[in-house]
Amino acid sequence: MNNQNTNAVPPDLLDVVIVGAGISGLHAARLLRPDFRIAVLEARERVGGRLCNHRFANGETVDIGGQWVGPGQDRMYRLIGELGFETWPLYDSGDNLLWDGTRGRRYRGTIPRIGPLALLDLGQAMARFERMAKSIDPATPWTHPRAQEWDRQTLATWLQRNCKTRRARELFAIGIGAVFAAEPEELSLLHALFYARSGHSLERLLSVTGGAQQDRIHGGTAGLCTRMAMELGDDLHLNAPVHSVEREPEGNLQVHFEGGVLRCRRLILALPPNQALRIRFSPALPASRDQLWQRMPAGSCIKCVARYERPFWRDQGLSGQVTSAEGPVRVMFDNSEAGRDSGLLMGFLEGETARHYSGVDPEERRRDVLDCFARYFGEQARRPLEYVDRDWSSEPWSRGCYAALMPPGVWTHYGETLRGDDAPIHYAGTESATEWYGYMEGALQAAERAAGEIREALRYSVDSTSLMQRRTREVPRV
Ligand SMILES: Cc1cc2nc3c(=O)[nH]c(=O)nc-3n(C[C@H](O)[C@H](O)[C@H](O)COP(=O)(O)OP(=O)(O)OC[C@H]3O[C@@H](n4cnc5c(N)ncnc54)[C@H](O)[C@@H]3O)c2cc1C
Repeated sequence: MNNQNTNAVPPDLLDVVIVGAGISGLHAARLLRPDFRIAVLEARERVGGRLCNHRFANGETVDIGGQWVGPGQDRMYRLIGELGFETWPLYDSGDNLLWDGTRGRRYRGTIPRIGPLALLDLGQAMARFERMAKSIDPATPWTHPRAQEWDRQTLATWLQRNCKTRRARELFAIGIGAVFAAEPEELSLLHALFYARSGHSLERLLSVTGGAQQDRIHGGTAGLCTRMAMELGDDLHLNAPVHSVEREPEGNLQVHFEGGVLRCRRLILALPPNQALRIRFSPALPASRDQLWQRMPAGSCIKCVARYERPFWRDQGLSGQVTSAEGPVRVMFDNSEAGRDSGLLMGFLEGETARHYSGVDPEERRRDVLDCFARYFGEQARRPLEYVDRDWSSEPWSRGCYAALMPPGVWTHYGETLRGDDAPIHYAGTESATEWYGYMEGALQAAERAAGEIREALRYSVDSTSLMQRRTREVPRV
């Protein structure tokens, strides 16, 4: 048995520091805290990261970041139950609308009603895509026999070759926008296939009932994070952006943040790559890690929500779901919370449209978004009681969403680096997940992997008596 002496551990040395109190960092903290002396450092004045509530004037809250959970996301449902929260199904009755420029055509299910030729074309392309995705091992996409070929091309190139009709291409691209908050030309085909596979299938990612948009959480996803944060007490430091990490000669780490320094034996970075890239490491991390992070840009999305006295569109037999080639809002949902009177309509501005509207005056943005809502649901939609939107690309501690993208060449050249550790530095965050990459479920899976690595590494050097003593002490600041 390795008998590293815990008495030799200097008193100001923590076992683990976790950078980032998004759902991934919080979950890792929850897993490690019973056995190790930890601290969590969060840059913002709140926890949750890409999960965030907006409170309307009537006291009602709405998720203005990530919100849905669905079948196959077992960790999320378990966590929701453990923390005493409940889910409700997104309103998914009535007809969806496909806006074709002049009018809305009603349809049910995931695939809109389009001409027979385009429908056949779309159906064949989707089936081909799903077959290819299914053949990928999401733990090692770069090992697929056709990985090089698929990673050399963008999804747009593949669509051009595999969708013969403009209409089918257009609809496929709207679906891609909704899933990635990006344009098909921004993604490697291999990444698109991996992403679909990691969330089971593209159809599941696009669907409401039975899919990734099935359920919402009473109290919001940010509520979950707040509850997890409460368990951490003084071990959580808000307004504490980490700017550098230095390794001491004997291998421990100094984590420098605005307001102090913590020392630790292991570090978890539970951050999106674009944030990790801003931290200075001494000595530098392996070049492949830094180069990988440089190649993982975030998608672009503005989430827009309007609150009405009631969900009036339901009177016309409409579900509130829209697919539109015209935009600027191309995808919409009924976001009303079950059990409340208010009606909420939610729409996304994604990819190039989000980038355009990021630079537009907020009043003009609101006007253009509500113009869209009115086009789809009538004049009543133009006059909500309240309106809110959140431009995630302008959030300095996120710089985009829903997750980081892989342009061509990244998976095949850097895939192996993504989830490996650089001990004593370990990586969590949804971008290092193999299952449900980009989703909350992926953030939990990645946290579990990172916590497992730490547990394994510190296994022989922790004795429970000293842990009991250590847990009663305050988090030190050097
Ligand atoms: C509009 C939108 C809609 C989405 N929809 C869904 C959905 O319906 N379902 C779903 O499952 N997922 C959805 N997502 C994605 C989901 O939100 C993310 O996958 C998940 O929240 C990622 O969690 P994370 O902990 O990995 O990262 P983050 O939430 O990004 O957490 C990282 C944390 O690190 C902090 N940080 C950054 N830099 C530093 C630093 N230097 N020092 C200290 N702290 C730092 C950040 O402030 C942040 O709190 C959506 C996201 C958005 C924005």
